[in-house]
Amino acid sequence: MIEISGHGPVTRFKMGRELNGQVMYWCAAYLVEDVLIDSGCVHTAGELARALEGRGVRAVVNSHHHEDHIGGNAILAERLGVELFAPAAALERLASPDQELYPYQMLMWGPAPPSRPQPLGTQVRTASYCLEVIPAPGHTDDLVVFHEPEQGWAFVSDLWVAPRQKTSRDHENSRQILASQKALAAREPKVMFTGMGDVVAPAGPALAESIAWLEEMARKVAELAVRGMEPPDMVKELFERESSLMALTQNQLSYENFLRSLLKGA
Ligand SMILES: [Zn+2]
Repeated sequence: MIEISGHGPVTRFKMGRELNGQVMYWCAAYLVEDVLIDSGCVHTAGELARALEGRGVRAVVNSHHHEDHIGGNAILAERLGVELFAPAAALERLASPDQELYPYQMLMWGPAPPSRPQPLGTQVRTASYCLEVIPAPGHTDDLVVFHEPEQGWAFVSDLWVAPRQKTSRDHENSRQILASQKALAAREPKVMFTGMGDVVAPAGPALAESIAWLEEMARKVAELAVRGMEPPDMVKELFERESSLMALTQNQLSYENFLRSLLKGA
């Protein structure tokens, strides 16, 4: 399923695989003039290609290597002749994407077909706008944010998911996410366009709430660690019980991983 909506000059394509008439997880792509930011998952790639026909898309730029952001690359390149660009650190992973996904990833997103983007530079230009490419590691090591300073737009991908995010995957580093969110906040964006399709305005308070939350949690986890507490007990101390997502995702998304990620170095 694809829902298309206009947000000033930005067009949002909110996409998700329908299961029993419901979308369980949304991904998003955003069209700014002739540049599309991210390409969704492979399950919706054909539908996205049809929705983009006649819209004059010249290039697709990826924010990071996860399968819900790159899954449409190959089909869009083949059917619409678009050029592909991605962060340099993502290129090898896009050329041979992970085909052995967890069952929940297979169900919702599926493995991305291989694609061969060119490396992103420091800017992405359209006729009227100039998007700065800002490295924003933490969610992954290769994530970038596309920031248009004149308009105050920040295409944040998965750098910001919710004001108080509590679940992480084991590869995430929440201290880095905190540092990357602070760096973005210093640029004072007006609107955040997120990887799950939320258009958050004003962006400032939402970013500030997340930064305060991550700082508070980092402080609490550090205190508990000094007392010798292990992450499973920290979950009970801070959240009473583990997230129901932990079982659904074979231990991938959990509160425990979030707390562990706050103990990693920034
Ligand atoms: Zn991601």
